Amino acid sequence: MKLITILVAIFITSNIMAQDIYIHAGKLVDTKNGKVLNDQTIIVSGQKIKSVEKGFIDPVSEKDSLIDLKTKTVLPGFTDMHVHLENETNPSKYLQRFTNNPADDAFSSIGFAEKTLMAGFTTVRDLGGSGVNIALRKAINSGKVAGPRIFTAGKSLATTGGHADPTNGMNTALTGDPGPKDGVVNSVEDARKAVRQRYKNGADLIKITATGGVLSVAKSSSNPQFFTEEIEEIVKTAKDYGFHVAAHAHGDEGMQRAVKAGVTTIEHGTLMSEETMDIMKKYGAYLVPTITAGKEVTEKAEIENYYPELVVPKAREIGPKIQNTFAKAYKRGVPIAFGTDAGVFKHGDNAKEFGFMVEAGMPEMEAIQVATIVPAKILNMEKESGQLAKGFYADIIAVDEDPTQNIKTLEDVKFVMKEGKVYKNN
Ligand SMILES: [Zn+2]
Repeated sequence: MKLITILVAIFITSNIMAQDIYIHAGKLVDTKNGKVLNDQTIIVSGQKIKSVEKGFIDPVSEKDSLIDLKTKTVLPGFTDMHVHLENETNPSKYLQRFTNNPADDAFSSIGFAEKTLMAGFTTVRDLGGSGVNIALRKAINSGKVAGPRIFTAGKSLATTGGHADPTNGMNTALTGDPGPKDGVVNSVEDARKAVRQRYKNGADLIKITATGGVLSVAKSSSNPQFFTEEIEEIVKTAKDYGFHVAAHAHGDEGMQRAVKAGVTTIEHGTLMSEETMDIMKKYGAYLVPTITAGKEVTEKAEIENYYPELVVPKAREIGPKIQNTFAKAYKRGVPIAFGTDAGVFKHGDNAKEFGFMVEAGMPEMEAIQVATIVPAKILNMEKESGQLAKGFYADIIAVDEDPTQNIKTLEDVKFVMKEGKVYKNN
């Protein structure tokens, strides 16, 4: 008798506690099988998906709620594998290196994080800033700020004068001699210390600048900037902390060194040779294309004084080539993961990348998969993220049309849920 009373009490309590959310999805993108399903119900309990059922199932308890997305196409939230949430392009950006304090960047980053989430990106990899990105991740995880789930590199690693040397272009009174603590390395020992320092600071992964870059105040866009043994040491040390390594690279030589040393992703990949494409395939390294950033710098380079003098020719040289390299690499079978370099262009415009990828020859469904199931694999979230299935995070978005018919519909996200909480419902 006593046991029955307890069981009844548990049953009643659990029903009161339940408060599941039933989502009626007119269409649902099954990213695992690459199919669009009709008339599905997603049942969300807490932060996770409890089940996905055929047809439109009505809530069982009064406490449950119903979200009607019968006229929409529902997808798992996207992951952008390359963003910079601390800042955003503007004509004063170079001056702001001298005027902004980390607190100023922190306040700006709140808005950038929110825009990213509202655009349907429920997870991002932040590939470098001053370390504000680590504090931002904490603020989002604790619910103080609305934003995507963040995996952050903290501060990127460079060599002296390299693409992420924080004092590039400054006068000699300000340049000083940044070292591993500031993310500048010039030896195997430095490389090891810089990785351990990132761990201490609270990073989730390591980003290196394997070659020159476009927006740094330095001459070359593409020269190699690390020795193989330095990258090998970074990859080896990173492994001890469960970190993977992302390598910014435009030039072929630096890119090849990075892939052979064991980095997981190549960012941009602009001047990638066919030989390097084959090496990428052999090592299973992913190309993160950032086509949107390429388009943006090409455009902005023509606005007078938008970029410093040293940057303009690099933007003109590199920007227009990125989409074409992506097309060739994809066709040759190089693994691809979705990433945009948001911050180089306006946060919240991340989904434009889908259109550019499709334009370059990738089928719509595959473009969606490289922004969902592929990043989940790289980020060790295969069983939690990138799919609408039982046990996965309730990161759910919706758009007006079927994106396999019109990819541009992804640029206008109407509904956003992250970990079971609704952030947008137009
Ligand atoms: Zn970047």
